[in-house]
Amino acid sequence: MKEICPVCEDGGSVKNKMVNIPIGKEIFRTKMDTCGKCGHYALTPKVRKEMEAWGRSLKKNVIEPQPLFTETTHAFLEETASRFGIKKVPLIKVMTSFYLNRVVALPDFERINAIVKKQEGYGLMVKGRKIKVSVPIHFLTFKKLEVFRETWNTPYPKTIEDAVLFCATVLTYRDTARLREIAQRFEEFVEDYALAA
Ligand SMILES: [Zn+2]
Repeated sequence: MKEICPVCEDGGSVKNKMVNIPIGKEIFRTKMDTCGKCGHYALTPKVRKEMEAWGRSLKKNVIEPQPLFTETTHAFLEETASRFGIKKVPLIKVMTSFYLNRVVALPDFERINAIVKKQEGYGLMVKGRKIKVSVPIHFLTFKKLEVFRETWNTPYPKTIEDAVLFCATVLTYRDTARLREIAQRFEEFVEDYALAA
């Protein structure tokens, strides 16, 4: 029986062939049923599993976004990084990972985020000339950043900026019990990272 393409409904040209799927600047290659007419292929659970295993085993970074931070934020990051015994770029990566994995899904995220943005420290960190920094990102964090880009149209650097400003403000502002709690969780998260590094 001839397979029919679900997109263009062409029945004669679906063939099992090698497909290149760009994942950031890397390319995942696999054989899939592909429509010769419109190029459609289906990401089956089997292919997704294969892609996941490939991504996890990748030693290279798949993207290298360049978020912008003010001199005040850069200085704060340098200081905080040395307090944890790590460098600035790894700290930015840890902040991004903490924010994406532990913060955005909190049921009261909107409320906490609104409190954070009202803080004086936050205001000071966003004011002034901004300098870019390159942040190499691995597959697992890339996948989370990709969700933000696809769902809310937020470019990778912007999500990293949001993550860093959120974490930095939480670390400097401790008057609210809820923020103190998050700051504490963040510190544990960085310490785990620093120990594993
Ligand atoms: Zn087609």
